[in-house]
Amino acid sequence: MKMERKPISPRPLSPHEQSWVREILQGHPDWADVDLSTTEVVAACDCGNCDAVYLGAETPQNPRLKGTKGYIGRIEIRTAEAFGITVTLDQHDGNLDQLYVDFLDLEEKGDRKRPSQWRELAHVYTKM
Ligand SMILES: [Zn+2]
Repeated sequence: MKMERKPISPRPLSPHEQSWVREILQGHPDWADVDLSTTEVVAACDCGNCDAVYLGAETPQNPRLKGTKGYIGRIEIRTAEAFGITVTLDQHDGNLDQLYVDFLDLEEKGDRKRPSQWRELAHVYTKM
């Protein structure tokens, strides 16, 4: 599926986005103590199937990583309501970039809308 990055009027991270970003950064030695105070959501994916957003900040959160890009970490969640949630965070030139968020309906029919709240049965963090 093609990711479409559509600029939005900048907004703070939602509570879920905030906690996923913090968890992923805290698990990675290069990122554990970066300053997120000016980090905002500046764009969103408009593919209609995912909840990916793009982050921006006044200055790169991790200037030491200029010239590099790649994934920082991933979280995989399974909920009591039978959804799988995949979250990944990547960086480009020391700037946090895409927070990819995807809800997968694990029921056979598989056509439920993504929930606004849920109960976690499993939660696995992977450093990347
Ligand atoms: Zn999308």
